[in-house]
Amino acid sequence: MTTTVPTIQLPSGDSIPVLGLGAWMMGETARSKQDEVQALRLGLDLGMNLIDTAELYASGGSELVVAEAIAGRRDEVFLVSKVMPNNATRKGTIAACEKSLKRLNTDRLDLYLLHWRDSVPLRETLDGLVTLKRDGKIRNWGVSNFDVDDMEELLALPGGKDVATNQVMYNLRRRGIEYALLPWSRKHNIPIMAYSPLDQGHLMRSSELMHIAERNGATPAQIALAWVIRQPGVFAIPKAAREAHVRDNMKALSITLNDDDLAELDRHFRPPSKKKPLEMT
Ligand code: NAP
Repeated sequence: MTTTVPTIQLPSGDSIPVLGLGAWMMGETARSKQDEVQALRLGLDLGMNLIDTAELYASGGSELVVAEAIAGRRDEVFLVSKVMPNNATRKGTIAACEKSLKRLNTDRLDLYLLHWRDSVPLRETLDGLVTLKRDGKIRNWGVSNFDVDDMEELLALPGGKDVATNQVMYNLRRRGIEYALLPWSRKHNIPIMAYSPLDQGHLMRSSELMHIAERNGATPAQIALAWVIRQPGVFAIPKAAREAHVRDNMKALSITLNDDDLAELDRHFRPPSKKKPLEMT
């Protein structure tokens, strides 16, 4: 049986799957490379055709793994990479993107993100991103690890409203964005790309989650992912270097959490009751 991966629409009109493939920690060693390539290819075969990488990951090594995984099938993939804040001047953003394109062996990115914010003025980075988009090197641009105040500053800049998404940490144990950023993003129609949706694997050890998973005939990973992507305007990019994990994650799409499940999850993984600083890895 094949499951179709539902999509959500970016403000530009481009469609992306609600479940994609993270590539952090890939490309760290030559020994693990073939498994990582196979896992990404399997994810694409199953329809999770969004891959998230960054120049930072394994110092470009992750992009090389991704290049191998997408060889011969570039058009199937919604390809995401990121510029590091210390490269994010106008010129630096353009140069970093060119290098990513080379490592990824492609002529365009579907989405290019500012990895996090540091000392470079936002308008300089924005200038670089707008130029890359104008020149056809990227189809969309976005940000990562931005809280509400950063987003408001961005939207106030000329062209800032074209932001496609904000990639932030979000999972059952890290629910801080529900207090302000998530409702703010919905109001402005800016999708949230949830990173570390499995809390980097730590959620798998939760006995509460195991209990709910058993009741649903599912695995803890499936419940954790189903919980993230059930929400409108939220999509997730779990990283899985093992084929068994990729298959497992895909099955999250066939899980519907009922009110009892959601209430129990709320009891064990409390929603935020006040504003907290944005969590980051
Ligand atoms: P994650 O996706 O929450 O968790 C990944 C870990 O969970 C890996 O150890 C993986 O194992 C394991 N796993 C995956 N599927 C599983 C399953 N079905 N059952 C049991 N374990 C499973 O963590 P993440 O890598 O931090 O986040 C995902 C992606 O978000 C990253 O790869 C990256 O692309 C992006 N990210 C972005 C930022 C940012 O600042 N913008 C920060 C962090 C992450 P195996 O690999 O062994 O299969």
